[in-house]
Amino acid sequence: MTTFSPERPLRVAVIGSGPSGVYAAEALTKQTDVPVGVDVFDRLPTPYGLVRYGVAPDHLTIKSVTKGFEKTLADPRVRFLGNVEFGTDLTHEEAREHYDAVVYTVGASSDRRLGIPGEDLKGSMSATEFVAWYNGHPDAAARELVLHATGVAVVGVGNVALDVSRILVKTTAELHESDIAEHALNALERSHVRDVWVLGRRGAAQAKFTTKELREFGELHGADPIVKPEEVRPDEAAEAGITDNIVKKNLEVLRDFAARTPEGKERRVHLRFLVSPVEILDDGAGNVGGLKIERNTLDENGNAVGTGEYETLPVQMVLRSVGYKGMALPGVPFDERRGVIPNAEGRVEGRPGEYTAGWIKRGPSGVVGTNRKDAVDTVAHLLSDAKAGALPEATQPTREAVDALLSRKGVDVYTFHDWQVLDAHEVSRGKDLGRPRAKVVHKHEMLTHRRKALQEAEG
Ligand code: NAP
Repeated sequence: MTTFSPERPLRVAVIGSGPSGVYAAEALTKQTDVPVGVDVFDRLPTPYGLVRYGVAPDHLTIKSVTKGFEKTLADPRVRFLGNVEFGTDLTHEEAREHYDAVVYTVGASSDRRLGIPGEDLKGSMSATEFVAWYNGHPDAAARELVLHATGVAVVGVGNVALDVSRILVKTTAELHESDIAEHALNALERSHVRDVWVLGRRGAAQAKFTTKELREFGELHGADPIVKPEEVRPDEAAEAGITDNIVKKNLEVLRDFAARTPEGKERRVHLRFLVSPVEILDDGAGNVGGLKIERNTLDENGNAVGTGEYETLPVQMVLRSVGYKGMALPGVPFDERRGVIPNAEGRVEGRPGEYTAGWIKRGPSGVVGTNRKDAVDTVAHLLSDAKAGALPEATQPTREAVDALLSRKGVDVYTFHDWQVLDAHEVSRGKDLGRPRAKVVHKHEMLTHRRKALQEAEG
């Protein structure tokens, strides 16, 4: 049994540098019982995952968590190894050879489908793809989105649905204050969008969004919120049982919207409830030409049931925002149905020394901060296993061995210092444009920028 010491610390690989990965690294460094050495990997050169590429560009205060993340990644016991793909650059087997424990924190990068006809028409896509596009995710940045639609339907009433709807209707001046990627800012500036329908299959009381995010629709410069009074009418009997404060406040805000007379702003956001999309219509040329929806009622279990009453929305774009889905990692067990790594409180089932935290552990729910406790819980099990001598022994437990492996494989590792240089560059480019940040979106540009910065530093 290995006794961990400053000379032979507990070596941990964290796979994924989003919030749950950095919170796991933080939990490992905040304790003093077991000396640790933590390598945080990411397939992208840049750290912070969903905070950089998922959180809405106009929600800058949420992004300020990165101040704390920086402290963790700058800790001398922690390294960030970006641009390293798990499964190829670092295989499962190699991770097990080089680390005493591996923590999977890769989030949920895929999306769920609606399973209705027309879902693959041009103009129908997942909110996940749209978010990745406007946030400048390297996988989506090359996509050329022309926003010629005047009507857009957003399916789902969670916070992601509100994010994409808000970004679609914000004015250029509003978007200018965000850190939205330049290509998206330019496309949205030329957008023809006038009406956005946000569609909840169940009632307003069952919506998943939170009140702060909902309220923002009452404060937009260029768009009126529109709510049908009959879809949010008080039902005293049913509402007597509601104890959730968020639901109560959501209903208050929605009823306030329903009572307002629209100010005649250029754009409108229609928040609709008890309607389900049943078919995305073809305009005859393979593009979205409309969305057929069915009115619903709720059954005694609170599930939506179709009434056979239909209407068609005049939309040319449909964004499905019905939840994220986890993706399997090569060599790691995966529960296809739930889209998570099967685990017992963060211990990967049947795999001593392997752990998981965040959305890939419990599914895509909660806000950024929810992942802190989640990661702390997982790390507590990891440390208790380490102290109990329950971890399989790593055969090459040093930084040098990992570096040699990656170098043999020709992996161009992006370090935390490289990221800090890029970060400063983005902020300074943003400053020149009067914006909080101007993101570098293509991976090759990130690597080129580093090369140039190194050449400059060497004189
Ligand atoms: P979500 O909160 O789970 O919402 C998914 C929505 O899709 C629900 O309204 C759900 O309705 C609906 N839906 C599912 N399947 C459907 C179908 N077949 N047809 C119609 N509607 C369907 O997911 P999310 O919006 O992707 O958000 C993920 C997590 O990130 C959440 O915890 C969210 O709060 C968090 N987040 C937070 C912020 C923020 O704090 N500002 C921003 C973005 C995301 P049912 O309820 O009927 O299933």
